[in-house]
Amino acid sequence: MSTNAELQEAVAAAQKSDIVLMNGFVDEDGDIHDDVVLREMLHPEEKILGSKKPDIEKVLRNCIIRLGPYTDPMEIREKVWPQLVKGDGDHLLIELRKLSLLNGNVYTFGAVCPLKRGGCGRETSEEFDLSEVGFVDVPDPELRGRREFPFEIGKHTIKFRHLLMSDAKMIAEISKSEDDQLTKSLALRLLSVDGETVQEHMPKAKTELARLKGAVKWLNKVVPAWKYREHIRGELKRAMARPDIIVETDCEHCGRRFRHPMPIDPTFLRPSLEE
Ligand SMILES: [Zn+2]
Repeated sequence: MSTNAELQEAVAAAQKSDIVLMNGFVDEDGDIHDDVVLREMLHPEEKILGSKKPDIEKVLRNCIIRLGPYTDPMEIREKVWPQLVKGDGDHLLIELRKLSLLNGNVYTFGAVCPLKRGGCGRETSEEFDLSEVGFVDVPDPELRGRREFPFEIGKHTIKFRHLLMSDAKMIAEISKSEDDQLTKSLALRLLSVDGETVQEHMPKAKTELARLKGAVKWLNKVVPAWKYREHIRGELKRAMARPDIIVETDCEHCGRRFRHPMPIDPTFLRPSLEE
């Protein structure tokens, strides 16, 4: 029996879960597909997670058996994945952990007391019960199928999009310096200014990173004011449903209470290595 046939057999026997996405995939006709069949992680995913640069996106993609009418892995990768919003991706990762690990609903991680907000910089062990995770829905159902968000700023019409799961790699890349991460994360979502797309504006930018740097400059020029940026961020956040992963921790060293998002990174999908 070939390895491929063995894997297919393992996939057929794997435990599966039906999930309804809060945002969903919007096809070219504007129809929303939100029903997903997810399978538990198997040995190929263990190999990916054990590598030096674990690709959490690939792990999740592998485990999507079906999304709406799409079952072909190539089609899921090329067509659906590039449009999957972060709120839905985080939702799927939470379900994948619960489905794949023994006691997968209990997630223990280190929460660092924030130095920048007057904390002590030390770590407190925090436990989150994933079976109790809540969701933040969009206030207006019409927002659910929207993927482009125009804003009138000064004399410009500026369009933004949601943060996507496929942005994760770029975000990891830009996270080296935390200070301008807010700006870069907004520039990443910039689609067009007065109908001119980022691609058209920077035809010479060859790499994604070069394009992002150009987009930051462009954003700084057309939306220089903080209050407008805050407004745009707020509206984009309101328009995307997402799991509520904000945790409140009491620092066990200095007693300070701080709020922070539960980290969903490659270690999120791995069992504890302590034995
Ligand atoms: Zn502290």
